[in-house]
Amino acid sequence: MTSGTVRWPALNLALHSGDHCCPSRMLLRKCYRETDLEVPLDSGRQNIRGLNRAGLLFSPGLVVPAHPSRGWSRHSRPVPYPGGDAWAPHLPVVCGRSRSLGTVLGTVQESQPRAPPAVRAPLAMAAPSRLLIRGGRVVNDDFSQVADVLLEDGVVRALGRDLLPPGGAPAGLLVLDAAGKLVLPGGIDTHTHLQFPFMGSRSSDDFHTGTKAALAGGTTMIIDFAIPQKGGSLLEAFETWRSWADPKVCCDYSLHVAVTWWSDQVKEEMKILTRDKGVNSFKMFMAYKDLYMLKDVELYTAFSQCKEIGAVAQVHAENGDLIAEGAKKMLSLGITGPEGHELCRPEVVEAEATLRAITIASAVNCPLYIVHVMSKSAAKVIADARRDGKVVYGEPIAASLGTDGTHYWNKEWHHAAHYVMGPPLRPDPSTPDFLMNLLANGDLTTTGTDHCTFNTCQKALGKDDFTKIPNGVNGVEDRMSVIWEKGVHNGKMDENQFVAVTSTNAAKIFNLYPRKGRIAVGSDADIVIWDPKATRTISAKTHHQAVNFNIFEGMVCHGVPLVTISRGKVVYEAGVFNVAAGDGRFIPRKPFAEYVYKRIQQRDQTCTPTPVEREPYKGEVVTLKARGTEEDSTAGTGKQAHP
Ligand SMILES: [Zn+2]
Ligand SMILES: [Zn+2]
Repeated sequence: MTSGTVRWPALNLALHSGDHCCPSRMLLRKCYRETDLEVPLDSGRQNIRGLNRAGLLFSPGLVVPAHPSRGWSRHSRPVPYPGGDAWAPHLPVVCGRSRSLGTVLGTVQESQPRAPPAVRAPLAMAAPSRLLIRGGRVVNDDFSQVADVLLEDGVVRALGRDLLPPGGAPAGLLVLDAAGKLVLPGGIDTHTHLQFPFMGSRSSDDFHTGTKAALAGGTTMIIDFAIPQKGGSLLEAFETWRSWADPKVCCDYSLHVAVTWWSDQVKEEMKILTRDKGVNSFKMFMAYKDLYMLKDVELYTAFSQCKEIGAVAQVHAENGDLIAEGAKKMLSLGITGPEGHELCRPEVVEAEATLRAITIASAVNCPLYIVHVMSKSAAKVIADARRDGKVVYGEPIAASLGTDGTHYWNKEWHHAAHYVMGPPLRPDPSTPDFLMNLLANGDLTTTGTDHCTFNTCQKALGKDDFTKIPNGVNGVEDRMSVIWEKGVHNGKMDENQFVAVTSTNAAKIFNLYPRKGRIAVGSDADIVIWDPKATRTISAKTHHQAVNFNIFEGMVCHGVPLVTISRGKVVYEAGVFNVAAGDGRFIPRKPFAEYVYKRIQQRDQTCTPTPVEREPYKGEVVTLKARGTEEDSTAGTGKQAHP
């Protein structure tokens, strides 16, 4: 074996499809689903460890492409890997057969003399300080260009053509060939609930599994919610969520904080969270009566405080009173199954609350962000409000963009129950297309998932009463592919708008831009190398989300994240993770995001009503008698009329 660690430009290789000329097709297919497989080569000279999903063979110190799109590669040009001390030769790989396993495998043949073996960590464990993504199409929300991207110390250091020195890669530089692929800002999921204690249970994805799944799907940042109980401290809730997340997160994260009750303490804590803790968004619930729900006047005061401190007000927009009454009605009709969940809170319940929230926020001149837009009716309300000039943003989620509420009528109880979330998915099957169109034209702005997973046994808490089914669905891993498939592949939006709605707009609203949501010099090195042509089939059997059901089961998605880079490090590549719990960081966010607040502040200056200048009225004024003393109310003393 050559001494230098090498890395082959694996990104030039198609994902294993099983339709190539290699006689080992069937076996490779089997291996395709397995990682960390130890495979002896028939040459007996070198073991290759790990045949992963992209058909890459891993060994300590060597990565070779096991499966080029047409037969085995004989011509791939390796480049040095950090920690390597020599330029590797061409290492042709040919098909062979291992007698010991009776399996057909690639064989590494040396074309240069062997150097003394060096002890190294497997490639996937190395942590390069510098990384060069070569020749990909770099896509931002406004512009695409073919360029190299140099990452160093966790940020984008350079962007341009031909950044690789003529003499080849210097030691310590990992080169990823992205020719023919897209290089996108890592996704930002604006809405997750990891390890969330809710409805008597706790969501099954914690901050470790949830953020790993995010990375596998091309998402490099999530924003979760710290949610205090009524009467509880917002600051304590925030610290509790931090203590859960910090040791476990595999990608960067931030926290919205919920306002579930109102008092002077809440008001003060909102200020402290914004000033000292990096929180610039607060979520208010108009649903979950007696648990989280606020009254209109409380919304008014909470929105007012948001504006005072420069935060974005978020609402869960559903009429909680109507839901409570509707639920009683459905149960009295003997409807106890998951369909009752939708029937007790139809679209209009969401649309009404959406309009009410917009009306209240508008009265305060506070920017408003409607989380989880689930229906055409609510989306239309938002689109209309934007046309009326309101500063309001709508966030559809992977679920509302990728599937619909007809599943609530599925005959299998567990199937129907796994779609239960609030607000519910809508039975109108034209909903996902409609929401995607609005996302494409800018009427809706960001995308989250409301990722809040519960296994079947947890959902079964409500087997006899739909109101007890823990609300929540998956999506953190699926969002990017679902939007690519239904949005870009279907021709509704282009690659730039895809970036806008999956990261850039969120970064702007939550004041992370251009650190996040953009590939530019100085931005965080959170990047996904995306294959727009490859496909994958979403399934609970293969996903990384810690839940035994996937609401997108069987969906074939174009658009596959090949490599996910977080904080400048390859953390996921072709089915293999290289990330540890706690590798992610909490990202604080400053108040008064310009993208949101410039218009708000300008309106305060120029659009605040002012009184009309008039001469004082000097005529007669009727005097009112004290009530009940005189029948003739027009009689007066004159004293009050002419003070
Ligand atoms: Zn909600
Ligand atoms: Zn939520």
